[in-house]
Amino acid sequence: MIKDDCIFCKIANGVIPAQALYEDDQFKVILDRGPASKGHALVLPKKHFDNVFSMDEDYTGKVFTIAAKVARAINEEFGCDGMNILQNNNEAAGQTVFHFHMHIIPRYRDDKVNLVWEPGEITDGQIDEYAEAIRNRLKKQ
Ligand code: AMP
Ligand code: ZN
Repeated sequence: MIKDDCIFCKIANGVIPAQALYEDDQFKVILDRGPASKGHALVLPKKHFDNVFSMDEDYTGKVFTIAAKVARAINEEFGCDGMNILQNNNEAAGQTVFHFHMHIIPRYRDDKVNLVWEPGEITDGQIDEYAEAIRNRLKKQ
């Protein structure tokens, strides 16, 4: 349930104190200590999951509801121009703390946050092939 050497397990479960924005029996929401922008917050499950791939459905279903609720409050408080809600899974995707967390990143017109990518290319044949392969995986889940 709690992983001994996991900083977010310790924060989410009160072993390391943190200023909670929101808390219930399954989640704690805190402000990021290295914020991308003013109001950057993190939704942490109290139970340890490395990433979304291993997360229980009970948690995946609730995490976005909580993120949206807190995002509305941050948006109202700081008058943000936009908001990114996202989470990273594994090192290649930018994950640095290996306890699932959802980022709530307020955006301001002149901020220095950089989350853009160059649109790539895909053929009709590739779309058909990839879609069929993923649908088959989903059927097995
Ligand atoms: P990620 O790169 O998606 O794994 O995000 C990890 C986030 O956790 C970064 O935005 C860090 O600034 C943040 N972070 C790391 N340690 C702490 C901490 N002790 N308290 C709050 N936020 C933290
Ligand atoms: Zn953990």
